[in-house]
Amino acid sequence: MDTAAIYIGSGLVILVAVQLVTVIVESLLSLTRQVKQNKLSDLFMLERIEAVRARRELQSANAWNGCRKFVVKQRVEESEGTCSFCLEPHDGKPLPTFKPGQFLTFQLDVPGLEKPAIRCYSLSDGPRPDSYRVSIKRVPAPDDSSNVPPGLVSNYFHDHIREGDLLDVRAPSGHFFVDPHAKSSAILIAGGVGITPMASMLKAIAASGSARQTTLFYGIRNGREHAFKTELQELAENHDNIQVVTCYSNPRAGHDVKGRDYDVAGRVTIDVIRKTVETSNHRYFLCGPPEFMRSLGSELGDWGVPAKHIFTEAFGPASLKSRKSMSSVDSKSAPDKEGNVTVFFSRSGKNVVWETGNALSLLELAEANDVQIESGCRTGGCGTCKVAIKKGSVSYGSDPDCDIESGCGLACVAGPDGDLVIDA
Ligand SMILES: Cc1cc2nc3c(=O)[nH]c(=O)nc-3n(C[C@H](O)[C@H](O)[C@H](O)COP(=O)(O)OP(=O)(O)OC[C@H]3O[C@@H](n4cnc5c(N)ncnc54)[C@H](O)[C@@H]3O)c2cc1C
Repeated sequence: MDTAAIYIGSGLVILVAVQLVTVIVESLLSLTRQVKQNKLSDLFMLERIEAVRARRELQSANAWNGCRKFVVKQRVEESEGTCSFCLEPHDGKPLPTFKPGQFLTFQLDVPGLEKPAIRCYSLSDGPRPDSYRVSIKRVPAPDDSSNVPPGLVSNYFHDHIREGDLLDVRAPSGHFFVDPHAKSSAILIAGGVGITPMASMLKAIAASGSARQTTLFYGIRNGREHAFKTELQELAENHDNIQVVTCYSNPRAGHDVKGRDYDVAGRVTIDVIRKTVETSNHRYFLCGPPEFMRSLGSELGDWGVPAKHIFTEAFGPASLKSRKSMSSVDSKSAPDKEGNVTVFFSRSGKNVVWETGNALSLLELAEANDVQIESGCRTGGCGTCKVAIKKGSVSYGSDPDCDIESGCGLACVAGPDGDLVIDA
């Protein structure tokens, strides 16, 4: 073998060796990098898990099950017959935030009643970490000669609940709320005390700094009923995206001045809305007396607003008249010729007929037949009358305002779809 061949051979061996070493070093480096990266992503994952856990802990520390004690810090007369109650948690711990439009459920011991009275009241302020506010309208006895008593809890609040009193309150809930940051413009339509969730919505939109275009139409009789007047006027003055149109149906001569106290003489009608907002392409939020909601709801529909863009909150008993058709009735449980179906209350052992013509709720049917079902607000808000459905299904005139687990029904606003067996 000559010298040149030896050199070439050695060179090749060295080259291969260098390449081998390079590959080994690169693999080692990449392995180290991989191990480091894995450690980092493990750490990152752990941090994320920790952050989620901390957030959950904070939320659950702030939220509560059942009732929590609140102190009435302040009472404020907002208008004739409507009083605000500002509440602070008795335990001094922070409050969970709520969605603007949601309500609180109160459990009140009214003297003379065997059980606590349960009522829902909308939060009327924007979310704050230290206090909640509800605003309650006194419900008088009807103006006729019947012996119907005035509203129990609203009058009890007005006449007996004072600053410093303690109240039992369930956590904020409800499905009627706005997202302050949504892109679509919002039209809020309030009749009378239906202003309470709208005041909260407007304040939350303003406080969030969102540019969401929002117009409030507020219908009341006159200046006597004008709750939150200064608050609402200031919100409109200080935020370009907020407009408030106040309608007095019966302004008082010599007192109420158009342009100063109100904008439109008359009710909130579809014509007033159309003149102000021109196109129908908005999201609509309605809260007010049943007739107000019914007529405006159907006029909005006639104007071409899709039902899915209209959101409502009913303060009074929800009507069963618009109950969904009995589409889910199967052949074995089909109603008779008149549309009547049988409801079996399994624990009481009572089999009764639910007549479509009467359109009673399951709660009313139970009460009429001496079957005990616990109840509270009777408007689908507080969830007290939730019952287990053992067979069959129920439907609702309007969607209940509280969460209902599958297999359960909210007796105060439910009607049977067909023959039904319920655990009561
Ligand atoms: C989600 C939600 C939010 C709400 N938010 C608010 C709010 O922000 N502000 C507010 O003021 N209200 C609000 N309400 C309404 C509130 O919950 C109560 O329904 C209202 O205060 C009336 O309660 P009450 O106990 O005073 O009247 P109730 O005693 O329940 O009486 C209701 C009506 O029935 C009549 N009545 C009483 N007894 C009889 C009888 N034996 N026969 C016939 N009629 C009778 C009364 O005269 C009265 O007109 C809200 C309701 C819901 C569901």
